[in-house]
Amino acid sequence: MPSDIDLHCHSTASDGAMAPELVVARAHERGVATLAITDHDTVAGFRCARALSTPVRLISGIELSCVWQGMTLHIVGLNFDAEHAVMRDAERHQYEVRANRSELIAERLTKAIGQPINVNEVASYAGGDIIGRPHFAQYLLDQGMVGSIQSAFQKYLGAGKIGDVKVGWPSLQQVVAWIVDSGGTAVMAHAHRYNMTRTKLCRCLDEFIEAGGQAMEVAYGLMSPSEQARMVELASRYELLGSCGSDFHAINRYGLDLGVMPAFPKHIEPVWNAF
Ligand code: AMP
Ligand code: MN
Ligand code: MN
Ligand code: MN
Repeated sequence: MPSDIDLHCHSTASDGAMAPELVVARAHERGVATLAITDHDTVAGFRCARALSTPVRLISGIELSCVWQGMTLHIVGLNFDAEHAVMRDAERHQYEVRANRSELIAERLTKAIGQPINVNEVASYAGGDIIGRPHFAQYLLDQGMVGSIQSAFQKYLGAGKIGDVKVGWPSLQQVVAWIVDSGGTAVMAHAHRYNMTRTKLCRCLDEFIEAGGQAMEVAYGLMSPSEQARMVELASRYELLGSCGSDFHAINRYGLDLGVMPAFPKHIEPVWNAF
């Protein structure tokens, strides 16, 4: 049974395949009664969804990219004022970073592959003004430069590869401040997926909490029982609130859908209790 709360998913405003209105309709069909559309570095998905007439309760959301100790981290912002000047500025900043970054990614891929990458054509894959690595992956596939999306990431775009450009991402402290200052709650996204030792992850959570972070994802898409146990232990230890979400991007991507996630752990206080 899908969870009736999903606080992490994507629409065409970033790298999802469904328009925000279709995401909301699908949530309703699947019994998701509370939904946050958390597009990468933009609130456009939520703003669009909010204009709909729907029984689904919509929570404002964004998934902000930042860099900590040389690694890209994602911080989900929930329940902020979507019109707040701080959030508008944050979105503008992230848009600029992504625009410069796409030029750099295109240059690097052009060198690595030996064929020109047309960044305008890549941009045409984006439904809004957020260009991400998945749009590059689709372009490379359609140009016959790779055989699959997976191999685009394995060869060129995944962590540590030539197209994994981190130039310009703000600090962890900065993105948490943007969320908190616009009235929202900052959530450490999918910490089980970061390639960190426990010691490093603890240091990261220390800094996250110091900066004003209040929650972490403890039920997430296809996480395993042992991954969930690790996250639940950390959430208890740091007295963080728990959030939950599928990280849904598209039907048939990674075999997940809206509301798909393990059961929410007992003994962790849900972040949405305060919404
Ligand atoms: P970006 O926001 O431009 O840094 O791109 C990151 C996005 O790429 C993530 O949110 C995922 O949707 C997608 N992604 C990252 N790694 C992979 C991978 N190995 N295979 C497929 N998609 C990926
Ligand atoms: Mn994504
Ligand atoms: Mn993410
Ligand atoms: Mn996500």
